Amino acid sequence: MKKAQIISIGNELLIGDTINTNASWLGGLLTEQGFYVEQVFTIPDDYDIIYKKVKKSLQQSELTVVTGGLGPTHDDITKKVLVDLFDSKLIENREVLDFIKMIFERRGFTFSRVNAAQAQVPENCEVLFNNKGTAPGMWFEKNGNSLIVLPGVPNEMKFLMEKRALPKIHELFPDREVWATRYFKTAGVPESTLSEQIGDLDEFVNNGVGVAYLPGPAGVTIRISANADTLQLAEGKLTKLKDLLYEKAGDVIFGEGKNLKLEEVAGKILTDNELTIATAESCTGGLLSSKITDIPGSSAYMKGGVVAYGNEVKISALNVLENDLNKGGAVSKNVALQMAKGVAEKMKTDIGVSATGIAGPGGGTDEKPVGTVWMGFWIKGDHFALKAVLSNDRLLNKERTVMIILETVRRRLQGVNELPYQLKPHSA
Ligand code: ATP
Ligand code: MG
Repeated sequence: MKKAQIISIGNELLIGDTINTNASWLGGLLTEQGFYVEQVFTIPDDYDIIYKKVKKSLQQSELTVVTGGLGPTHDDITKKVLVDLFDSKLIENREVLDFIKMIFERRGFTFSRVNAAQAQVPENCEVLFNNKGTAPGMWFEKNGNSLIVLPGVPNEMKFLMEKRALPKIHELFPDREVWATRYFKTAGVPESTLSEQIGDLDEFVNNGVGVAYLPGPAGVTIRISANADTLQLAEGKLTKLKDLLYEKAGDVIFGEGKNLKLEEVAGKILTDNELTIATAESCTGGLLSSKITDIPGSSAYMKGGVVAYGNEVKISALNVLENDLNKGGAVSKNVALQMAKGVAEKMKTDIGVSATGIAGPGGGTDEKPVGTVWMGFWIKGDHFALKAVLSNDRLLNKERTVMIILETVRRRLQGVNELPYQLKPHSA
């Protein structure tokens, strides 16, 4: 396999001010493209260190990708290294200069010498034109190995890598093995339960198929991957495992795709069924309606929401009975039920959902520990509540609650009997 290295430049990365997302993104992309990513380095904005690292990497690996150190302030360091390494000199790139001037004009900023310097590139590189910013990318060759140098700003780096560098990579490294990777997203099932449900996968792993369970706050993602000479062959290696996953865990897989979100899938189901929804939120404070409206086109099904944090608002805005609030407290089955039905009636929707809980870290009791959440559902007359006891992490509890609600709506509308975390419905 062709070897690759990633070098991230920037003091902010070393002291922990900025998370090095570029390296992880590039690691994924290069692996997918059939490279063996053998080393990843994070180094400071320092001439000597940059010089040594880049030189060594160029000698060791067929491909090196460097990001950062190309902004207007430290521009001189990285470019000076490149000029020295390749025994070159800086020349002005007219196309880049005109583009930078145009950007400044459009934004109404004054153009200075520092900005003009960004259009200077080593003579022997191929410029990777950056439509997203002022620092161009650069491609160098030495003794048959390649070096790509990109700005650190993540969206510019991604643009240059995908649109400018990849076509060249495909041209220069035609004999790479390619990886086929698929991501199956699940929600409302713990990793251990999921892996037990799916069972032993040794047969696949022994045949070179990679399997990983990736847990996150929004659910567990199952990643499967295989490599071969062509994408078609690699995909073929995954077919049997894919079928098995759907057979064993189809109910809890809400969709496929690395970046697929549950709210997107729930939204699609609502759209397809021409259903509308409204939210009544206490402990989630609007996070649920925020997630729902993250999805373009959500106006087709999302009518509105009420953040009913105080008891008075639960009563006045959602018709929750004062008597029930006093008797069972705000975090109770009856209140959750009334909030869900109340908001659906107020907003004239097919579905109303609600959350009321003790997000923490304070406020718990023996009877209702921190993390206790009641969620209410009114789904076309189907009226029930769920109780979950989550963690003592406030933000995580908000996120989990939103996930459980969306996943419950999804499962109900798709006819899945089992509810998230095998919670049992308490009917009204
Ligand atoms: P210079 O380092 O030349 O002074 P700069 O830091 O503005 O200028 P870059 O190094 O290209 O320019 O980085 C631009 C911005 O991109 C940084 O401020 C940082 O927020 C972000 N960035 C840089 N490297 C990374 C990285 N590896 N992962 C995520 N973000 C990064
Ligand atoms: Mg920097």
